[in-house]
Amino acid sequence: MNLNGINHQPQVLYKAKEAEKTAEKQPLPVQEKKTEKKASDAGCLKNYVLASASFGGHQCKTGDFAVKKLKDVPCCCCGKPMLRESDMQQCKRAVANTQGAKLAATIDEYGKYMRADERCVASIIADKAKETGCDVSQGMRQTSSQVRELTGKYANGILDGLNAMATEAFKNEENPVADIIKSAKEEIAKGQGLDRSAFVASLEEAGSTLGEEMQGKLQDTAMNLPQTFNHVQKIYGKYAQKTPDEIARRLFSTAMTTAEHIHPHSLGGPDNTANYIAECAGCNNPRGSMDYADWLKIHPEYPRKAQEHVEHVEARLINGEIGRDYNDWPVDVRGSLSKESGGRMQLKVLNPSTIENMRKQKGLSGKVTVQDVQEAYQKQEAKKKETEKS
Ligand SMILES: [Zn+2]
Repeated sequence: MNLNGINHQPQVLYKAKEAEKTAEKQPLPVQEKKTEKKASDAGCLKNYVLASASFGGHQCKTGDFAVKKLKDVPCCCCGKPMLRESDMQQCKRAVANTQGAKLAATIDEYGKYMRADERCVASIIADKAKETGCDVSQGMRQTSSQVRELTGKYANGILDGLNAMATEAFKNEENPVADIIKSAKEEIAKGQGLDRSAFVASLEEAGSTLGEEMQGKLQDTAMNLPQTFNHVQKIYGKYAQKTPDEIARRLFSTAMTTAEHIHPHSLGGPDNTANYIAECAGCNNPRGSMDYADWLKIHPEYPRKAQEHVEHVEARLINGEIGRDYNDWPVDVRGSLSKESGGRMQLKVLNPSTIENMRKQKGLSGKVTVQDVQEAYQKQEAKKKETEKS
């Protein structure tokens, strides 16, 4: 599959058990990790020196990374909007302090900030709240004995949505997506749960004849499925007896913006803006020092979402929400991602001079949008071709 012109290697069928183990080993993301597992000191230093020399950008602590300070930046990996600490507090209070139908409405309103597993938990609680008028903590306790069954119901709802999209897309042709949805539903009915990565890999294969846009839409919808049913059960296991405040915080903690080291810090990746990309805690923490090839199997949407992320940041850069010292960031990050992914990820980015020109031209014409950025890519590309000709 080749989405948005980004090189995307064919999927290798994902080993579900192994990945689940990896995910389980990681603590639930609450804040950015301060200490990372160190590779051997000598190797680490060598990599660090190599990396620092080959990276552009400037030295920067993760906490000072400018993109982290913006609200509603889409995560470079899952594409869901991210939260700063103060925004997270606001979401937390809204959920912790309401009950019944109001709680359900609040979860609906702030649901876009929850990652897939948390959204599933919150949705189960919202249904209960509508029924019994409970708060978030009571809702969790009242549903904890049926969590697997209710997760199945939630997943089936998403699969029904996918099915409708696929039916529309294939029209009267043979529809292989319907077959994999059917077998996924059968597995759920048997109580076997569903492994999202394996499902998304088969979805990609089954939908390979559809256009890129439709494939992307199917993938985005499927990524709303919980990673595994065990992931949901684990949140219940740890939080079912906690206070509304603690539960509400947990629902949003994975949406917090973190600075991801593109070349992992534990493998010598420097604290340098060229090595940073803003990623939610839910995506960043389980990656650890995982290789990009393996990471892309769990997050096949990454190349597409990273492109959207960079476009979003470029628009905000042109609009002056981030300082000029970040004009080089898009070019730097394209290099870092390409290197780290062994050439699989080839982002389209704006040159620093284009960014600066657009910033100056913007004048009183109002704010630049992502669409303006995409048009600028085309102009930049055309100009490059012209220069090559002459
Ligand atoms: Zn994410």
